[in-house]
Amino acid sequence: MTMQIIKAITHIRILEANTGKLETLDALSQVYIPLVQQYINYFCGCGITDNVPIIGYFPPNKFGDLLFESELSKRWQRVAIQQAAGVARSWLTNRENAYRAYLQELEDYEKDQLEPEPNPKLKLPVWKDWNSPILRATVIQANVNVVSALEPEDQAVLKLERAHGQSQSNSQFDYWLKVATLDKGKPIYLPIKLAKYHKQMLEGHVPSTSTTLSKRQDGSWWLTLTITEEVEAPVPNASTSAEKVVGVDVGIKNFITSSQGRCYGSFSGKLATQHKAERQKRKRKAKLIACLKKKGLPKSKEKLPSTSSHSGQKLSRRVKQSINRAVNQLLDELPPEELKDVTIVYEELNVASMRFKARAMNAYLYASNLGHIPKQLAWACAKRGIATLTVNPAYSSQQCPKCNLACRDNRKTQETFSCKCCGYTALADYNAACTLANRANDPELLQCLGKEEIKALLAHRHQKWLLVRAQA
Ligand SMILES: [Zn+2]
Repeated sequence: MTMQIIKAITHIRILEANTGKLETLDALSQVYIPLVQQYINYFCGCGITDNVPIIGYFPPNKFGDLLFESELSKRWQRVAIQQAAGVARSWLTNRENAYRAYLQELEDYEKDQLEPEPNPKLKLPVWKDWNSPILRATVIQANVNVVSALEPEDQAVLKLERAHGQSQSNSQFDYWLKVATLDKGKPIYLPIKLAKYHKQMLEGHVPSTSTTLSKRQDGSWWLTLTITEEVEAPVPNASTSAEKVVGVDVGIKNFITSSQGRCYGSFSGKLATQHKAERQKRKRKAKLIACLKKKGLPKSKEKLPSTSSHSGQKLSRRVKQSINRAVNQLLDELPPEELKDVTIVYEELNVASMRFKARAMNAYLYASNLGHIPKQLAWACAKRGIATLTVNPAYSSQQCPKCNLACRDNRKTQETFSCKCCGYTALADYNAACTLANRANDPELLQCLGKEEIKALLAHRHQKWLLVRAQA
């Protein structure tokens, strides 16, 4: 199986070769961004009945019809639709996941109410629908139809330079960006100078034809290029011996806990502190804006402090970086001579299990970042030629490795596993990692379809264990 990963090359400054070019870009964005927003509102608004999302609603067609009047060219309008469809799609998916989580909570609550003694701590969950996403930053996700990166040797640029009598030598700039503007048939050419590390990343790759242009608050424009890397993922070894299997439990307190008893990366500590500060800052800003609006001051929108999620994205990036570090650490510690025999076993993370793991942390951000761990594991393993296997994690955090009893009470605290029946005790994450590793060599369990079958199999094994003990 071939795996692909898309890498972004960011922070490429768009230089201003002569005055006016960036103003043209500004003028373009002032028409483009509102149009994207119009389509976002349209796409997101269609999936609702009575303030409840329609599950499975998937309309944003990135090749859909032009619906709104615009002075932009049709090509630019199509780009706007694609960008809006992308934003709407991920928002709709996130909202649907949150809604499913709500339905699950509601089901849990209703089941509990039928018990003879309902849990007094459980409250009736309430669904509050989300507001449509708002584009706060000036970001243009363009394709080759409207923006193209030209290498210096490109004939078009040479011709252009000659025609305009420009004296820039070819070696002065690494790329030229050709951007279609509001004036039909009058593109602008923007020069790009790459830093050394940009060149290193680009070496041996052809950048994708889609580009991102973004404007910062100081008015400067920046370019993001992407490249695609491919690796061949090794197939898990069918005759993997138990000691060559490394089970991996994914969590928040420890991003990764291995069945070898090691932990890597954590959301607690520095990242959690940053997150807390971030939330407080946003709250303060929102309060200030509400206050200013009440007073009717100031009129200009631009003077209001922004509540943009820019710093939230920064934190999210940092979490991803530390997840990547944790994954690398785990793999670096494996003996190099054994890599070809090792299989890394981890759980298929689904919304329900992510929600369970993220519950303590309450924010959706964590759930989405948790999902980055298996992705990164798959990629990093493939890159190093290490085989991987995903197993169903159902009851893996509650299952006793000795007597197979799987029940919630085996987890009295978040940290420790303590079997109610046989008394086996271990660190909870470590126990879960070992359980996942064992499942890799458990054909009977691997064949189970779904949670209920796994539960039945474990119950059956537990009964057998009890019988053997009674006979002894
Ligand atoms: Zn037990």
